[in-house]
Amino acid sequence: MDEGGKTTRASAPARIGHWIGGAVAAPVDGARSAPVFDPARGVVTGEVALAGPAEVDAAVCAAAAAFPGWAATPPLRRARVLFRLRELLERSADELAACIVAEHGKVFSDALGEVTRGIEVVEFACGIPQLLKGEFSEQVGTGIDLYSLRQPLGVCAGITPFNFPAMVPMWMFPVALACGNCFVLKPSERDPSASMMLARLLRDAGLPDGVFNVVHGDREAVDALLAHPQVAAASFVGSTPIAKHVHEIASRHGKRVQALGGAKNHMVVMPDADLEQAVDALIGAAYGSAGERCMAVSVAVAVGGIADRLVARLAERVPRIRVAPGMTDGAEMGPLVTRAHRDKVLGYVEAGVAEGARLVVDGRALAVAGHEGGFFLGGCLFDGVAPGMRIYREEIFGPVLSIVRADSFEAALRLVNEHEYGNGCAIFTRDGDAAREFASRVQAGMVGVNVPIPVPMAFHSFGGWKSSLFGDHHMHGPEGVRFYTRLKAVTQRWPAGIRAGAEFVMPTMK
Ligand code: NAD
Repeated sequence: MDEGGKTTRASAPARIGHWIGGAVAAPVDGARSAPVFDPARGVVTGEVALAGPAEVDAAVCAAAAAFPGWAATPPLRRARVLFRLRELLERSADELAACIVAEHGKVFSDALGEVTRGIEVVEFACGIPQLLKGEFSEQVGTGIDLYSLRQPLGVCAGITPFNFPAMVPMWMFPVALACGNCFVLKPSERDPSASMMLARLLRDAGLPDGVFNVVHGDREAVDALLAHPQVAAASFVGSTPIAKHVHEIASRHGKRVQALGGAKNHMVVMPDADLEQAVDALIGAAYGSAGERCMAVSVAVAVGGIADRLVARLAERVPRIRVAPGMTDGAEMGPLVTRAHRDKVLGYVEAGVAEGARLVVDGRALAVAGHEGGFFLGGCLFDGVAPGMRIYREEIFGPVLSIVRADSFEAALRLVNEHEYGNGCAIFTRDGDAAREFASRVQAGMVGVNVPIPVPMAFHSFGGWKSSLFGDHHMHGPEGVRFYTRLKAVTQRWPAGIRAGAEFVMPTMK
């Protein structure tokens, strides 16, 4: 038992296999595997199989075989599977959240929030009979009608990051499946178990075998998926270099692709902002989930005279963040996902100090009693950060907030617009004019006005600009339906005995 009275997992690591054709696939001889950690204790709790081309081929073939039947299933019946999935997810939400905590490390309440945002996409996809309705024009020419419809693509692949092991897959597969596609998910090898729970829930909801599959793995599995001739489309979410790679390789193989990348989200705090509201927003948005969110605020741009007061309030609050294992009551921030990732974040903190930024709060010495082996790092706060510094230019993906000072709204806006990334951003102000100007001119895909993490709801679409997204479509919502379907236009005439003979000119509708 651990100190919280809960039973710790057996010391033999759990084996995590692929999900192919509606069941866990037996491991292939000589297959590679990777350790999965409990980040709060720093111990190995699982061993995940890493797929090569053979396992990827088996998953894609299972999906391709299931496709004709699933595509021909009426959208209403497909939606009913998703309605059942929604009920099962509601019932299993705590278990799924605990599974996320065990391998990712985020706190339980945050993991539950992730599950809820995923369920919302399932709810959106339940409306697929309405969403798939096409357009119809009667009498576009004499006796001629024209209609358009959207049809599924075939086998779609989803490649997802570690930081939302349930929500990001659920940005993709509910919409893809509702549209009539089959799906092969390649989740992060760092926290693979949530995807296996989702596969079981889909089976229990009545999804036919083969419609949804999971292959675990790393670059080898991803490259095999992207090159597979029976994969029609790929959705990717992860870091920018890999997003670029996936976009290029998938495009080269003729696939439809959407690839969402990294971020460096700025929050502009205007001199007239409500200071306490801005501080609360920054504490949650910069340090929630230990900063491992693509919508985390990692830069606060303090405009004019508010800067000193903002830094002073943050300096009081950051050390008070309750850092503890994710299942601890009242925990506000958990560990980072792996030791390697924590070391990378520590490297950024050292780089910031070396580049001359002022480390106002240094979380490096934080120790969590009884969890000395865990991958914890306390919140860090830098002031005096300048655009040339690495800690400003690069995505840190940890509990590190940088304060940049700007002397005007225009200077703040320029900073945001000149940054390589353009995922989310926010402005805190009481001035409607400044807010409207910001929302109109800022170069980012998602904008918050007095809202620090402006993640669009499931019935809108999620996506960034610039190096935060490669491809044409944002994810879920109407953009998701467009991505996972292709358009067909049918022009029809039912001749009533009139034959015009062959026509050799471009048809016009007379
Ligand atoms: P990552 O890019 O390391 O991994 C993402 C996926 O790509 C994983 O499934 C991984 O196995 C695979 N992968 C890793 N290396 C690969 C390679 N060389 N070739 C092919 N595939 C490879 O990202 P991560 O560390 O898991 O997640 C954090 C990143 O994801 C951050 O940059 C974060 O901003 C980003 N993210 C973006 C969004 C968004 O909506 N824009 C959402 C969540 C996370």
